[in-house]
Amino acid sequence: MSFSGMVKKELSGYTERARHCCLAELSALICACGSLEQDQNGDSELLIRTENEAILRKCFTLLKKTFNIKAVVLDERDIYTRRGKAYTGRIPGPEETIRVLEAVKVAYELPAGPVGFDRSSLITQRDCCRRAYIRGAFLASGSISDPEKGYHFEIVFPDEVRAQGVQAMIRSFGIDARIVLRKKTFVLYVKEGSQIVDLLGLMGADTALFDLENIRILKEMRNSVNRKVNCEAANINKTVSAAVKQIDDIRLIEKLKGLDSLSEGLTQVARLRLQYPDATLKELGCMLDPQVGKSGVNHRLRRLGELADELREKEEEQ
Ligand SMILES: [Zn+2]
Repeated sequence: MSFSGMVKKELSGYTERARHCCLAELSALICACGSLEQDQNGDSELLIRTENEAILRKCFTLLKKTFNIKAVVLDERDIYTRRGKAYTGRIPGPEETIRVLEAVKVAYELPAGPVGFDRSSLITQRDCCRRAYIRGAFLASGSISDPEKGYHFEIVFPDEVRAQGVQAMIRSFGIDARIVLRKKTFVLYVKEGSQIVDLLGLMGADTALFDLENIRILKEMRNSVNRKVNCEAANINKTVSAAVKQIDDIRLIEKLKGLDSLSEGLTQVARLRLQYPDATLKELGCMLDPQVGKSGVNHRLRRLGELADELREKEEEQ
């Protein structure tokens, strides 16, 4: 199962205790999956349609819990959407339908048509209810990418008003959700790993949160090891190119003046460097007699460099 599928499975099993939270979650689910249709008698009935059977079951549980309504599954007609088979539930009776629509505070028009987001709704005033609403919206039309591949959380909305409504709810928890227009839909997304962790937490997906955190920590460790390795490689490169320059300088002095023309200390360092091109300054220092520290060796090599530069200048003048 995909990471997204696991998160949804966990969330569809999560049940709220408080009635206000149940209503908020149901509001998000009905807003995304609900529509009004007329039955044979011309009465309006609420249909809930989703490709995810667990989500339909969740709607049924919430309807039973908050309204004591037993919705029925319509299985006599198989409806296929772009992504596969759809599952449809029906709320029996026009009175029940209106009762539910009024309680979950969605915008609707009789006798038939889609159900809309009610911007003025007070249903998401409390923190707990906003969490429940975000969970419902994510269950109905959200997805989250496999954290091994990257961090991306999104919920797709057919209209901008609803996308902005949920964006405001998510932002109220300090999470930076953005909206982008994609093929006539409004996609709300969050791309930052730690903010996705926060989102999972506030929706109540504790197991998924734990998994994501583990992957994040592993990834960060891997990155920091890579950084260290790169950094060491860069230092080695620096050492090597410094040694190449030193050897060039020493060869030039040898050619033009001879190494014996130098002072005892400089001659020793020059010969050792030619003999041990890979040695570090500290190692060269240990080989000298008497031994010299790293900065002493550095000083002598710099002196050799200056001598070589003087020789080069003289050569150019001639
Ligand atoms: Zn609540």
